[in-house]
Amino acid sequence: MSSAEGCSVLFEPVQIGPVTARNRFYQVPHCNGMGHLRPQAEAAMRAMKAEGGWAVVSNQETEIHPTSDLSPFAENRLWDERDIPALRLMTDAVHGKGSLAAIELAHNGHHAQNHLSRAPLLAPSELALQTAYPKQARAMDKADIREFRKWHRAAARRSREAGFDIVYVYAGHHMTLPHHFLLPQFNDRMDEYGGSLENRVRLTREILEETKEEVGDDCAIALRFAVDEMLGSEGMQAQEEGRAVVEMLAELPDLWDVNVADWSNDSATTRFEPRDGFQTSYIEFVKQVTSKPVVGVGRLTSPDLMASLVRKGILDFIGAARPSIADPFLPNKIKEGRIEEIRECIGCNICVSSDSLGVPIRCTQNPTMGEEWRRKWHPEIIERRVKEEAALVVGSGPAGLECAMQLARRGYEVTLAEAKQELGGRVLQEAGLTGLSAWKRVTDHRIYDLQQRGNVQLFTDSPLSASEVVELGIPNVFVSTGAKWRRDGRGKSAFHGVSIGLGSRVFTPDDIMTGVVPEDGPVVVYDDDQAYLGGVLADHLAQAGREVFFVTPASLVSPFTELTLEQTKVQRSLLEKGVHLNLSQTLANVASGQVTLQCVYTGRENSIECSSVVLVTQRMRETTLYDELCGTNAGLLNTLELIGDAANPGLIADAVYSGHMAARNFERNADDIDREFFRRELVSLEPV
Ligand code: ADP
Ligand code: SF4
Repeated sequence: MSSAEGCSVLFEPVQIGPVTARNRFYQVPHCNGMGHLRPQAEAAMRAMKAEGGWAVVSNQETEIHPTSDLSPFAENRLWDERDIPALRLMTDAVHGKGSLAAIELAHNGHHAQNHLSRAPLLAPSELALQTAYPKQARAMDKADIREFRKWHRAAARRSREAGFDIVYVYAGHHMTLPHHFLLPQFNDRMDEYGGSLENRVRLTREILEETKEEVGDDCAIALRFAVDEMLGSEGMQAQEEGRAVVEMLAELPDLWDVNVADWSNDSATTRFEPRDGFQTSYIEFVKQVTSKPVVGVGRLTSPDLMASLVRKGILDFIGAARPSIADPFLPNKIKEGRIEEIRECIGCNICVSSDSLGVPIRCTQNPTMGEEWRRKWHPEIIERRVKEEAALVVGSGPAGLECAMQLARRGYEVTLAEAKQELGGRVLQEAGLTGLSAWKRVTDHRIYDLQQRGNVQLFTDSPLSASEVVELGIPNVFVSTGAKWRRDGRGKSAFHGVSIGLGSRVFTPDDIMTGVVPEDGPVVVYDDDQAYLGGVLADHLAQAGREVFFVTPASLVSPFTELTLEQTKVQRSLLEKGVHLNLSQTLANVASGQVTLQCVYTGRENSIECSSVVLVTQRMRETTLYDELCGTNAGLLNTLELIGDAANPGLIADAVYSGHMAARNFERNADDIDREFFRRELVSLEPV
């Protein structure tokens, strides 16, 4: 692994126009579901990145005008000067930790929907919204373009007033007007803003020049530009028009922030893009074309890769959104040679899912993400123990491992017992499926940490009964025994389960994850869970050479994965592997050799011949140990707490969070915990 000296290049200061970054770590703009609705949370979360060593900390797309209204999503907002104080909270907090603050000014054109403002939608051409909402954007006339330029100028001025050091012009992700003007798929104008590339670039050039004129003496001007749409010859390509755009505007911005479009490609999950640094081949030309510093991304978590990207002259700044979410202290850990302590992003996009839902950000790897302000959680600091000395954690899934690790960090003597031969619980199982191997980082990080500590004892092959727990004599017990997939078909669509005939061969996801592959013959994967696992299992079984019928009551494959920007890729992958899709169908019954399906709309039945069925429906909490401890032995224990999937089945992120919460709250006053729950940003009732 890298030495701290090998990485010294990463800690050189870099000039960006009139400002200087103290090192090469750059948190590029990313959404966090806080934005203008939760400005104190936003400030605290960004400041944590600065504290962790990111020299530049950006906010997220910042609406510059009511015609760019992203409601109900909570992005940043700078419609007028009344928005400045909220943004200043962030710049003050980031400056307080010695970093530069960047603002990503955005006019989202027809990507905005203006549901709150009810303002007209603007676009280069007559365009329908890409969502199902029946609204259209109008082609901007010359007066509209002049207005837009005025709004952007005013927003740049206000950005400086709010204390930002770097001001973005944003032409990326298919999400903003400058990008829409650049791309023929959105722009069929016949005037000087359409047609030739020179014409399509005009608006971006004007905005850059005007932003520079307005604030360029004090602030650096960054251009965020997607060099490739990842559509092959159907779209802009890095080696053709993408390069030509960079050549045309080469010296105009003070910094190039380059990536690929759309967002699902830029924030690709490890399931579909396992390579760290996967954008390098698209963006590596940029530094040959401009003398200005360049920042790029691609889930960069390896210090060696980072240093080599700088040494090879590909990047000046190591850009990160997700790696900085999973580990806000990544730069400091590299600087201090604590490479093994880095919590590597697993590329699951649960962070993105919270933005998609309009709630504050969360992260599978970093349970403190999004909790900096409301719970005052710090990713690297946790309170020392109070009076109690020892704790037992039963079960080593994500909840148990996180709970044990945090208890150990607090100074308790921790015993962790796992029934199986290996630590890891569901993570170990799920990471064995096609496309999910990077998820194992969740357990690798925690097991490594636990193994380094003198106050931790780890036991595998140790299924504990209630009497054995009592015999151990440890008075504080956290039960993280997880949950198992049901075998009876009970789920969203079948509260009383599915009729399963004698002789039928039924498997659960747990069976498949422990390595069972149903014998030859067609397999039905019935996905009533509708999250990610059903799709993964179908993919996995098809990869193993089985003929797969994917049946789901949903009208598309794995609808949950829309939130993680994967749904299109999931459905494409199944179709490409020859999986037969039976959508909008419930499973009426399973018999030997066939299943009967029922249309969710008409109730009409049809059947499929198959030799086995995998039921992905619902999970059953594993609470036997907890129930026994509650029943007869509760009085012998000071603490008995059920955590993780055994308490509430959910995502791996939820299990980690639950384990973290239990460890933080241990020995805290229960009334305080209940009363505080978390701090909230309440709406001011003052007249404005
Ligand atoms: P979570 O997601 O809540 O962490 P998991 O299902 O991933 O839960 O992990 C639960 C773990 O607990 C599994 O590895 C399982 O083998 C283990 N386990 C269940 N019951 C016992 C028990 N009685 N003693 C020890 N380990 C147990
Ligand atoms: Fe990475 Fe997943 Fe955390 Fe997002 S939620 S930062 S993808 S580990």
